[in-house]
Amino acid sequence: MDIRIGNGYDVHALAPGLPLWLGGVRIESGLGCVAHSDGDVAIHALCDAILGALALGDIGKHFPDTSDEFKGIDSKILLARVMELVGEMGWKVGNADLTIAMQKPKLAPYIISMRECLAGIMKVDVSQVSVKATTTEKLGFVGRSEGCEVYASVLMIEQSDHL
Ligand code: MG
Repeated sequence: MDIRIGNGYDVHALAPGLPLWLGGVRIESGLGCVAHSDGDVAIHALCDAILGALALGDIGKHFPDTSDEFKGIDSKILLARVMELVGEMGWKVGNADLTIAMQKPKLAPYIISMRECLAGIMKVDVSQVSVKATTTEKLGFVGRSEGCEVYASVLMIEQSDHL
């Protein structure tokens, strides 16, 4: 059995009047992510961690932000496609751990919904998906609510029953 680890990182700028999506969940907020897609920075970091574990490049390579096909796309579709790709190669997610850095709003009420949503797409138990949130104590661009950043780590496991 082979195992791999991967990490992912993503940042998006925040602007008023845009919907805020994190971990596949719509968050009530006056600020949303500026993006070519729906701006789900948590899913983007997670996709990069999964792709990175298998040295498959990054999300920009697979879903170019210059392509009309991905304009405004629901990032859950991107994660599903990444899972399809790694699944075909015989890999599954062992666990995933995400840290979202955002000054406001408080994300605690949304954490379980994010974990359930991501676990569903990755076809793992919710206990295998961790989502944590932190502020940056008002320091830096996150602290000024100019942007949101997410770090993701995953462990990938080769499926012993693959072919
Ligand atoms: Mg992104």
